[in-house]
Amino acid sequence: MDTPVLGVGPALAAEADHEALRIDLAAAFRWFARLGMHESVANHLSVAVSPDGAQFLVNPRGRHFSRVTAGSLLLLDAHDRGTLTRENAPDPTAWYLHARLHARLPRARCVMHLHSKYATALACLADSTMYPIDMNTMRFFGRVAVDVRFSGMALSGEEGDRVADLLVEGKTVLLMANHGVLVVGESVAAAFDEMYYFERAAETLLTCYATGKPLRLVPDAVAALTERQWRDYGQLAVDHLANIKAILDTEEPEYRKLCA
Ligand SMILES: [Zn+2]
Repeated sequence: MDTPVLGVGPALAAEADHEALRIDLAAAFRWFARLGMHESVANHLSVAVSPDGAQFLVNPRGRHFSRVTAGSLLLLDAHDRGTLTRENAPDPTAWYLHARLHARLPRARCVMHLHSKYATALACLADSTMYPIDMNTMRFFGRVAVDVRFSGMALSGEEGDRVADLLVEGKTVLLMANHGVLVVGESVAAAFDEMYYFERAAETLLTCYATGKPLRLVPDAVAALTERQWRDYGQLAVDHLANIKAILDTEEPEYRKLCA
């Protein structure tokens, strides 16, 4: 379907935005699969399509990240109580977590949840602090909330509400103890970049731990400055996703397909 450019009304313009969001999110699925950050056919990424966040796109149940297309993403309404009983229902844990997060946090346009190797390993340590030891770890200085209350799979809306309460202003990462990681962002590009760098930062920290040598920590003021400098580098996230899409356009262009 061509994206309308001229003479479109508000509804059509919104539909064009919606298509762009589908393509961006499909690209993020494909790339996380390439990076090995997926797990089986589990885990979920979502993006809000309505201003209040209630309507959102999420991956269909049981589909491998490497097979997600723009058109296969489910369009759901966080207030629709019949969602899980319908044909083509989403994964229940995806529903309970993402529906409540989008409904409660309209600013969190994109929500990504993975059990990626290094972030999950960090979440399994008694001390899950992301210590500031290099630029990537410093990016997360003050941005990480740790949910220490793992109580089984998230199979109720209460779990989503509890998680939403932990993501207070300024927190972009929720490290879920004994479980995995969740990031929020103002766009697919922002959340994708945040997840990518969090995994890299966790990899560096855990590689340092593996040496058994003491960490070379920087002062909090330096870490805080570096975190602010990262925020001024927002274009990096936009360029990152644009490059991912350019590579996929050459190597697996079917990710853009608007049919399921
Ligand atoms: Zn999970």
